[in-house]
Amino acid sequence: MSKKIYLYGNWKMNNTYSETEKFFEEFEGAYAPFKGDANLEVGIFAPFTSLWPLSQGAKKNGIVFGAQNVYYEPKGAFTGEISIPMLKEYDVTHIILGHSERRHIFGESDELIAKKVKAVLDAGIIPVFCYGETLEERETGNTFTVMERQVRAAIDGLTPAEVKKVIYAYEPVWAIGTGKTATPDQAEEVCGWSRKLIGQPEAVILYGGSVKGSNAKELLSMKDIDGALVGGASLKPGSFLEIYGAYKG
Ligand code: PEP
Repeated sequence: MSKKIYLYGNWKMNNTYSETEKFFEEFEGAYAPFKGDANLEVGIFAPFTSLWPLSQGAKKNGIVFGAQNVYYEPKGAFTGEISIPMLKEYDVTHIILGHSERRHIFGESDELIAKKVKAVLDAGIIPVFCYGETLEERETGNTFTVMERQVRAAIDGLTPAEVKKVIYAYEPVWAIGTGKTATPDQAEEVCGWSRKLIGQPEAVILYGGSVKGSNAKELLSMKDIDGALVGGASLKPGSFLEIYGAYKG
């Protein structure tokens, strides 16, 4: 039996409300060949302001959806933040946490991300937890030390059942939005290592970093890679779904 593939799109700060409506006008046709495929789970993560049209389009097409960040407190004096109860009213199923852009541009710490992971799980939403090393960390031989710190911070306070619910996304920082992809062997090495560290053989582990139609088959065919978290190529339905098409051959 072929494995289930998770194809998740992270739009980052792209696609306005009206552009999201337009995306879903085109999405239906591009998704038609794969709709109903039990071995495919598609998800899209949009900016907060596009969550309403995203929720409508996602529900119509039977895909999962969510936000790219959230704050862990339920309400209060946190100017500019969005809470989990606010997102629950949109019926989000998943939330991306710890993306490298949150860590490196906005200074999010392992400790803050861990609080968010726990709060999201407590609310019955699935965290898509991102982790990965910078180029400097890789070149100085620190890849596994850094990733162990990032992953342990997020899961150490969780029960085994919670650890299993999290979706993990290994995203080497040097491969995000750069056009440089980790080789299938590099990605597999880290995803296999992560599965052991997480201690849950059935954990869902995605690879992210310049995934597109032309490199999807090799990456997604690796044993420990359960799917892809896709940035740039997820902005148009054609280039997004082409990734699964390429894998299927
Ligand atoms: C991402 O934003 O998570 C990502 C992997 O981006 P890209 O596919 O553009 O490298």
